[in-house]
Amino acid sequence: MIVTKQILMRDLKRLGVKAGDAVLAHSALSAIGQVRGGANTVIDALLESLGPKGTLLMPALSGNVFDIKKSPTWVGLIPEVFRRRKGVLRSFHPTHSVTAFGARATELIADHLKCPTPCGEGTPYVKLMDIGGKILLLGVDQDRSTSLHSLESLARAPYLSTITRQYRDPADGKTKSVTLRDYPGPHRDFIQLDRLFREAGIMKIGKVGQAVSRLIDAAGMREVGLRALRENPAACLCGNPNCADCVGQRAAIKRHRLSQEDFQLSAVSDCAGHGIEEIIATIEHEGIQHLELRKVNGREFAAFTDQEARAIAARLRARGIRVTALTATLPNADWNRLIDLAALIRAPAVVLPFDACNPEFIRRARRRRVQLRLENFRENSAACAEQLKAIGQKQVSCAFNAAHFAAVAQHPFLGIYMKSPLKRFVTQFYVNDGTFAGEPTLPGQGNAEIKELISILRCASFNGLMTLKPARTLHSFATHAEAFWKLLDTM
Ligand SMILES: [Zn+2]
Repeated sequence: MIVTKQILMRDLKRLGVKAGDAVLAHSALSAIGQVRGGANTVIDALLESLGPKGTLLMPALSGNVFDIKKSPTWVGLIPEVFRRRKGVLRSFHPTHSVTAFGARATELIADHLKCPTPCGEGTPYVKLMDIGGKILLLGVDQDRSTSLHSLESLARAPYLSTITRQYRDPADGKTKSVTLRDYPGPHRDFIQLDRLFREAGIMKIGKVGQAVSRLIDAAGMREVGLRALRENPAACLCGNPNCADCVGQRAAIKRHRLSQEDFQLSAVSDCAGHGIEEIIATIEHEGIQHLELRKVNGREFAAFTDQEARAIAARLRARGIRVTALTATLPNADWNRLIDLAALIRAPAVVLPFDACNPEFIRRARRRRVQLRLENFRENSAACAEQLKAIGQKQVSCAFNAAHFAAVAQHPFLGIYMKSPLKRFVTQFYVNDGTFAGEPTLPGQGNAEIKELISILRCASFNGLMTLKPARTLHSFATHAEAFWKLLDTM
């Protein structure tokens, strides 16, 4: 079938394009069919449908160095033909330029370069929403809709980046630079938003020629999209676990969330992986930048030479990861050696069991300026509090393991946190849950009152460590971390 201008105008009218509308059109000429007259016919059909009071806009995204007259757009043939038309205006912008023709063209494209972001507040994309404009997707899906980057920007999505781009200043012909924040990409999944727009009744779908096309109310899209991003900051990212881009962007969201908290989230090394690179990758995916070193490559950290310990510390420092403590899996570990290693690599603390602590370690730790954190295993809270009171040292505090307290039939929140003097000694909290029978569970699924404890610690601006230490036989680190994030979501 040959597609003519008349057919296109009829189809556009059916889709809801009206005279006087301001429409931003994204398009794929090949999807429309065999158009008599090609791209120009599509542009004519759009302009005639909008009439003299209407405004047609198209994306004119381009690469470095931006030249408003010469830089071609890379978003398809129709926008490029439109850009070259007589009378079509172009916004001055090195990455996300927009072309426009019609009644409101001048006001819509004005001052694009003055905006601190390419697609956010004050850009033509957001102005279109403000004036009740529409977005037309001619044979393309939501992934092509630049205006959805506007929503990421308006929502201040923490995974957006800052870039510097160049442009040629027409006033003096010189090349100049501009720094832009909220720059989008690399990957995202806008396709999943389509269902939300359909269900909200802000979008109509129909064929224009052979192209399955969408006409969207831009202000309605902003409302629905921002609500989705408020509910889930990852609403524009894909859920593919093998998409390194979105895995990284989700980590940025988690890092941002943690930056709003008083506590520091940490992990125990061998729970997160075997070798140091695997450990780093696993914790970075969870937005975690603090690590407690126990085993690396299957070896106890206490067994490492000075040189080996320094090399691991240097690698972690290079990734911006802080070592919070050294510890061991064995109750009879060489704690003297760990205290010395902590001093060597400037780890602030060593975590050891209450019943392993003795005056010699305390003296050594004081000399080395290393803190000792005592973790409860089989003790009850009263015994722990007594021991800490007796020591009475600034360098010794409690690494509170709620699952272990539950295993000795104590209620970690109602019984201990609310009633026992132990709570004022707590500088570290293991996010470990388990049953009264001593079976480990995911956080929030045992008897250790983990949710209540996390919540009350947050209320008290607890600025110590919350540490993920899943029982390795039970769940992967990622599953344990997911349970922790889900608990936070319910607070
Ligand atoms: Zn992705």
